Amino acid sequence: MRRNRRVKIVATLGPASAAPEMVERLFLAGVDVFRINMSHSTADGAKTLYNTVRACAARHRHAIGILADLQGPKFRIGEFGTGRVHIAEKTTFTFDREEAPGTNARVFLPHEQIFEAIDVGHNLVLDDGKIRMQVIDKAKDKITAEVKVGGMLASRKGISMPDTLLGISPLTEKDKVDLAHALKLGVDWIALSFVQRADDLHEVRKLIGTRAAILSKIEKPSAVADLENVIAASDGIMVARGDLGVEMPVEKVPGLQKKITRLARAAGKPVIVATQMLESMISSPMPTRAEVSDVATAVFDGADAVMLSAESAVGQYPVEAISTMDRIAIEVEADTLYEPILHATHTEPQPTGADAIAHAASAIADTVRLGAIVCYTATGSTVLRVIRERPGIPVIGLTPIESTARRLSLAWGVQCIMTGDPENLAHMVRKACRIAFEEGLVRARDGILITAGVPLGSPGTTNMIRIAYVDESGAPIASEV
Ligand code: PEP
Repeated sequence: MRRNRRVKIVATLGPASAAPEMVERLFLAGVDVFRINMSHSTADGAKTLYNTVRACAARHRHAIGILADLQGPKFRIGEFGTGRVHIAEKTTFTFDREEAPGTNARVFLPHEQIFEAIDVGHNLVLDDGKIRMQVIDKAKDKITAEVKVGGMLASRKGISMPDTLLGISPLTEKDKVDLAHALKLGVDWIALSFVQRADDLHEVRKLIGTRAAILSKIEKPSAVADLENVIAASDGIMVARGDLGVEMPVEKVPGLQKKITRLARAAGKPVIVATQMLESMISSPMPTRAEVSDVATAVFDGADAVMLSAESAVGQYPVEAISTMDRIAIEVEADTLYEPILHATHTEPQPTGADAIAHAASAIADTVRLGAIVCYTATGSTVLRVIRERPGIPVIGLTPIESTARRLSLAWGVQCIMTGDPENLAHMVRKACRIAFEEGLVRARDGILITAGVPLGSPGTTNMIRIAYVDESGAPIASEV
């Protein structure tokens, strides 16, 4: 199953898409990675979704990625006596530690850590940004705030503190249980919500080891402030525009999306642009023009993947949403402005052997007009360095390791194929030519570029480039270094 685009599509599974026949239809429509949102999944539910996706992948002999998205620390206020109250602008409102039902002047806040970390001047954002307050006084058990934007507030609504660095573990107790379950199932990517700083990643990596790749969701101002370190400590990044637009003014989100995408690309870490991409398709078979433009912008920016959330999880048109994304991506990537815009943000290779090879591979492929780049890879790291260059021709990853193939399903422009290590250099060339030919990426007399590590089969040794030309039967006709 070869896609006709370089950008990947991530779709969130949910009641609208959990049935095996629906997973099949979504895959055929274009999904490369399925996301299981642990905020809304039970252990049994996650297991069923996991098995359904793996069965679909096995039927199609295709590496499909599975991303388990952990809920992270979500904070909620307590209850109001009347269920909901009207909070008036310019009044003062108090959060305290008394469990008594709340009024329009106070409410219980059951999170000790907030009382410890908050300071005068910090902002408080409630109910997805609908209500905003600023702290004017703080005591051990009481936070007093001035209401900047008022409105109706219901019991148990979410509260976030964009300016407050909380001294909390990046994983809640629920996350730890969900993480253990997801790792036991064998998911390929774990997404961490509300990452605050790079140290969060170091802590979580100790638990995960190499069992899954770690994706940081950028949604907190503190993560934005520590962005380069967070990216360096992560295997992938998500521009989580939903909560990012709650924690920060919405008008800052587009600029941040560009900055995060650019930095992640420069670091060679896959980056997903997420949330509300085709929101109106939850209830309409047609997207708005603005949504189409939003998806197109992410594709022009060279994001590795675009993501659907509610559209595919609970929407009425999940298949249509995927095929709409697919069509937008194909159209953008064929646009004459695509390559110049994509390469406007080129970053220099780093002084390593892997980057020298990746950079040279792209340059050679352009100079000699080759048909495909074929990378033998164990961990996927060479492939990630090659696609960091955003080459203009298809990139195939050949690996004997299933988890590598599945992880790379999130990465821009890579098609990964499972195959054993070649026995010798001649076999390596023959196999690369045959696979590129069979996949329809090259025709007779086209050339391919091969990267590999010698001795063959040893991870982390990519140290050679080879050019080979294909004959009418898909075998090499000649090869030169
Ligand atoms: C987001 O906030 O944009 C996001 C993707 O996270 P979640 O769907 O978990 O809210």
